[in-house]
Amino acid sequence: MANSPINASQDSPPSFNWDAWYSQIGGRKINIEEVDAILKKIYEEQYLRFEGPVHEKQIQFDSTFKASEHIKAKAIEFGADIVGICRIEPSDIYKGKQVTEKFAIAVGQRMLWRKFQVVPSQESAIECLRVYLTLGETVIKLADHIRSLGYSCKVEHPIGDSDLLHIPIGLKAGFGELGRHGSIIHPKLGPLFRMGSVITSIEMECDQPVNAGIGKFCDTCKACRIYCPAKAIPDKRSPEAGKDHIGLDRYIVDTGKCFPYFASHYYCSACLPVCVYNHKEWARDFEGFQTKLFPEVIFDPVPNPVDDVPDDLKHNYNLVNR
Ligand code: SF4
Ligand code: SF4
Repeated sequence: MANSPINASQDSPPSFNWDAWYSQIGGRKINIEEVDAILKKIYEEQYLRFEGPVHEKQIQFDSTFKASEHIKAKAIEFGADIVGICRIEPSDIYKGKQVTEKFAIAVGQRMLWRKFQVVPSQESAIECLRVYLTLGETVIKLADHIRSLGYSCKVEHPIGDSDLLHIPIGLKAGFGELGRHGSIIHPKLGPLFRMGSVITSIEMECDQPVNAGIGKFCDTCKACRIYCPAKAIPDKRSPEAGKDHIGLDRYIVDTGKCFPYFASHYYCSACLPVCVYNHKEWARDFEGFQTKLFPEVIFDPVPNPVDDVPDDLKHNYNLVNR
């Protein structure tokens, strides 16, 4: 049975018109052989594999949890570093578009920190494109697998003419919080990752947005703003631009300033590696041993309080006004 379509909301932004933007700055200015070769592969080889036959027999899952567990395990097997699931809402869809699937499976792959030691640079530009290509393979394989289970689906490639806005999808799928620089900061991967998605109507458990104080931290840290060569990253949040997924007013990057720099300087990307949430040595101790990201905290039953120490022997810290 066909799903009823979900239409974009009235307030949805139009999809980014790359040609119009490039024409404003006198055409595409990034000419790197490796980048051109990767773009050719994406457009000429991957795009053809977005569609495929759906198996006539549909596999049934015991529960929505089992379905999401299976899909996530497959995404990881096909090369995802992170994967999350959310329900698609009208505000996730670009203006004038519609989708017929209910869920988005967001898939992310990390970019290598060591390729961003100099930004902007040819090396960082190639790394961005390398990950777009490998991420494309991951979402295509995941879509093939979903069709083999008897469910229709659609690839939302990280590059190109997608129907969905990747950032709100990633935020709802639990990829992290929105940074001042306009990119998602993942608690483990930081901001150096790219994402794409596959949309489908398999009934699955959804993930929850992350609210770990990352976005709030941006109010005091301004590293990306300081190091943005185009001065495109704002000082203050913009209440008139609406809230993010955890209720914070959004920071709005000035795309009119960013794009000309980005498009003439190897996709710039400076705001990503300068972000303090890049955990270069994260989860390793000083001798290089891999450790946990966060200690496991034991929540045993709480003992009764002991409060019979005389007042003049109690140790109280001075109150500090912050
Ligand atoms: S990509 Fe470059 S120009 Fe654009 S916001 Fe980031 S640092 Fe600024
Ligand atoms: S560099 Fe600082 S202000 Fe900018 S996104 Fe990262 S944490 Fe937020």
